[in-house]
Amino acid sequence: MSVYERARRHARFMLGALTIAVLFVVVIERYFGHSSVAFGVAIVGLIAANRSMLTHNCPRCGKNLFFRGIFVVPWPNRTCGRCGLHLALDRV
Ligand SMILES: [Zn+2]
Repeated sequence: MSVYERARRHARFMLGALTIAVLFVVVIERYFGHSSVAFGVAIVGLIAANRSMLTHNCPRCGKNLFFRGIFVVPWPNRTCGRCGLHLALDRV
């Protein structure tokens, strides 16, 4: 599997995690009233789930696929922004 494919899988996983976190907070608010604790748990959970984002790097120059300069975006680069390597190819 290519680096891009793995990163894209992570992006999809994070989308699911975000949906679950939002639903979790909404359900807690609905049944138990406003809760900063529920919100905090959801945020910490998302940060923990997103830790592996930092492991999706370009195999040639090490640039992270989710970084565009100083910005972080939720979808990975198909082509490395630094060295131009095609990350969607299986063999690099
Ligand atoms: Zn690169």
